[in-house]
Amino acid sequence: MRILVVEDEKKVAGFIKKGLEEELYAADVASDGEEGLGLAEAENYDLIILDIMLPKIDGLEVLSRLRKNKITTPILLLTAKDSVDDKVNGLNRGADDYLTKPFAFSELLARTRVLLRRGQNETKTVLQVADLTLDLVKHKVSRDGEEIELTGKEYSLLEYFMRSPGKVLTRTMIAEHVWDYNFDTFTNVIDVYVNHLRKKIDKSYSKKLIHTLRGVGYVMKE
Ligand code: CA
Repeated sequence: MRILVVEDEKKVAGFIKKGLEEELYAADVASDGEEGLGLAEAENYDLIILDIMLPKIDGLEVLSRLRKNKITTPILLLTAKDSVDDKVNGLNRGADDYLTKPFAFSELLARTRVLLRRGQNETKTVLQVADLTLDLVKHKVSRDGEEIELTGKEYSLLEYFMRSPGKVLTRTMIAEHVWDYNFDTFTNVIDVYVNHLRKKIDKSYSKKLIHTLRGVGYVMKE
């Protein structure tokens, strides 16, 4: 899952990005409203964390323009002041939730998970495909009851596959949801990671779950 953080305070933005990456999300940071709007329109994010007080274009205006342009990505607003006006205004303009600064990272994370689940129309915290399960809270993966150790990126890749069973995922889609903006899509890194993942979750099982569609991408299915 890939998240855009629009926040001009470097310290806060860095703290959020680091925390999200530790939780195995890919995160990009935009440091003003103009950059945030540009990235949100050009890229395909699963969630946007948007500060209200921003240089160039403020957060509420960014929010209005995104919704006007039919971008429906869930948006979590950050507000410095505990102003009822800002919250009401934000929700009226199409924000999905808000958080007042200063906040504990654990609360940001809890709200992030809820919004990502809502975006997927999903209420469970464990994903399952055949006998493969992935626990979104504990970050544990197991197949046929046996726990499988994955690296952070392998886990993120598997999570993306398991959120879209039966759906063909192109390399571009995988890059957009699993890697951040600095990722060079012209490399074969995705294929390398998919192969690593296969070795761990498919190799010693008769029923293969990750299938290659030559020239198109990959699909996870039974
Ligand atoms: Ca700010």
